[in-house]
Amino acid sequence: MLRPLLLVLSGLAVLLLGGFWWLFLADSSAPAEAPGLLVLEDWRELVADDPSRLPTEIRVLEIGRDKAPGFAARAGGFGTDWNTTYNAIQIGWPDRTMIIDGAIDAETAVGMKQSETDWAFDAAAYDTLLAAMLSAEKVMITHEHLDHVMAVVRHPDPAALAPKLLLNAPQIAALPIFAKGTLDPAIASLAPRLDGSVQQVAPGVVVIPVPGHTPGSQLVYIQLQNGSETLLIGDVAWSLGAIETLTTRPVLTQYMIFDPDEDRTSVKAQLRALYDLMQSNPEIAVIPAHDRGHLDALVAEGRLIKGFRE
Ligand SMILES: [Zn+2]
Ligand SMILES: [Zn+2]
Repeated sequence: MLRPLLLVLSGLAVLLLGGFWWLFLADSSAPAEAPGLLVLEDWRELVADDPSRLPTEIRVLEIGRDKAPGFAARAGGFGTDWNTTYNAIQIGWPDRTMIIDGAIDAETAVGMKQSETDWAFDAAAYDTLLAAMLSAEKVMITHEHLDHVMAVVRHPDPAALAPKLLLNAPQIAALPIFAKGTLDPAIASLAPRLDGSVQQVAPGVVVIPVPGHTPGSQLVYIQLQNGSETLLIGDVAWSLGAIETLTTRPVLTQYMIFDPDEDRTSVKAQLRALYDLMQSNPEIAVIPAHDRGHLDALVAEGRLIKGFRE
């Protein structure tokens, strides 16, 4: 009697361990190489024409913050915290600005809340973002997920915002999914103004399409007049540690968070390419959108300025 029971119990244990391995650890390591995926020289060449026209500053505005388990951002990262931030970036020239990402609004922030003690939403900062979009020359997003588009899809003056929006075709196609509500016709009828190639969108600013996390995901490379270089990577990685350890999110996120799924194979190759880029060019500030500790460190170093222009 004991033997069949032991067999059943050990079978169950194997199943549980296998399930744990699959959901939390498997299929998360970057490949050994990803040649030609991210070519920094091409981006530098695109911005090299007239250094005096490059932007002079990059600013970050935090709209909300939270805390989640570290293993969500990086498979195997048990026992660590992922201090998250929801924000937008403002690129500044002497006479104009560009905004990257639309963050979350109050309703979305409440819906995504993870931590009772570390969650916060800054309504005044969100209002600042809405206004800054209208005074900007151009507005882009790193990708179409709901925590990057709310100030775009729920902007109170969509007709004034629409002419400033530079989106690619997959981003526009996905906006109705992530808007979580009815899109204003001015936004719903947008035509793509990014063509899916690596292109300079303003002096010193280059977009690099990286479909994977979402079909419309893109990197934004920025070179300032002082020569400093920054690479906004959106959610290709949720933390800098994910790049440093060459380990992406656990498979669990496919079931709990992403709908539609990520293309994990592409994301893992991009992690490798980012790792290699950082190894050979440590002077470049690589910025995952949600890594609060890293953003704070870049502000402390003077690479980013906290808050938008008045
Ligand atoms: Zn995100
Ligand atoms: Zn995302």
